[in-house]
Amino acid sequence: MSMVSERLAILKASAPMLVDERKKLLTAGGRDIVSFCVGEPDFAAPACAGEAASAVIKSGARYTNASGTPELKKAVAAALLRDSALAYAPEQVVVTTGAKYAVYAAVLALTDAGDEVVLPAPYWTSYPAILRLAGAAPVVVPCTADSGWKLTPEALIRALTSRTRALILNNPNNPSGAVYTRAELAALAGVCRDAGIAVIADEIYAGLVYDGASFAAAAAVDADMFSRTVTVSGVSKTYAMTGYRIGYAAAGDAGVVCGMSALLSHTTGCPSAVSQAAAAAALSGPQDGAERMRQAFARRRELLDAALTDAGILHTRPQGAFYMMADIRPYLSPAYPDDLAFALALLEQAGVATAPLSAFGLDGFLRLSYTLADARIAEGARRMAAFCRACVEERV
Ligand code: PLP
Repeated sequence: MSMVSERLAILKASAPMLVDERKKLLTAGGRDIVSFCVGEPDFAAPACAGEAASAVIKSGARYTNASGTPELKKAVAAALLRDSALAYAPEQVVVTTGAKYAVYAAVLALTDAGDEVVLPAPYWTSYPAILRLAGAAPVVVPCTADSGWKLTPEALIRALTSRTRALILNNPNNPSGAVYTRAELAALAGVCRDAGIAVIADEIYAGLVYDGASFAAAAAVDADMFSRTVTVSGVSKTYAMTGYRIGYAAAGDAGVVCGMSALLSHTTGCPSAVSQAAAAAALSGPQDGAERMRQAFARRRELLDAALTDAGILHTRPQGAFYMMADIRPYLSPAYPDDLAFALALLEQAGVATAPLSAFGLDGFLRLSYTLADARIAEGARRMAAFCRACVEERV
């Protein structure tokens, strides 16, 4: 009998992780795999980030304040004002070990055991696990193509109960790429105000929007929304700094900031001093590299969109982030009855790694991350098209 706690026994390796682990084994064995699996930009971090990190290493990295250095908090507040029109004071910011930990800290700060948190689906795969770890119950609200994969005020109202404490709103959304307009946010904000619930606004993809769409921050809707929102973001995506592990949360509610700071002081101690200096440099330094990366993703999005369209594979045309959702329901069969089985077969037989979206609350879809070179996107789409064609031919 295992000695693992009930709390951790409920956590399972996610389906995308299973695909990624198998991909790594195949690659180690010499197979050429095109990987659309992981949401990680393939660009270099800004040069100023590396230089700032080296300087801290040379001077001897020490513990910092548990909730981040004053320099980084100042840089975060300035960046949130510049990029999201959010006027947080540096004291309203806490710095965390990746945005993932910022979401966890926000959930712990806002909920008690048994509280409900509304989670629009499709959702980032870690949210349900984070909520359950915290003892909160995810209330999943399926969103469909009809609403642009977005939560509507009516659906939010239907999900509310006396135990609802918060809504997690991920904008731009991973995996759908949906981007909420300011008017849509204002309508949801009205429901949150009437219900008296908090909002965890995960805006880590705020810098990655396309097609002239403009990003609007949830907390920027009005003063009430500012006070009930915890804004989460980080440097992983916009600055291609995934391995630095720096995220942050900013809140209008002083008690929530205080609670998150106390949590950090007793758990992570502080985020890496080296990484904090790098993040401050990236946020405050020249922004042209981030913009060049966004333009590259915009081009790759067109490439993948065109290739999947040519292959007749139904898919989304996302307005933000760097993921496309491919509808593989027409290709499922007794041999590959669900998206995980299909993703594993696509990997083994065609050498293409993708993320099955049942792990993100949406059955029958795969997520394709277009964070790889143009030629690899074309090759991956070609392999996937051939595999899907073969699935159809085998059936007739
Ligand atoms: N939030 C969303 C929606 C994400 O997709 C991710 C990473 O994939 C994160 C948070 C976590 O980012 P970080 O690498 O900073 O922990």
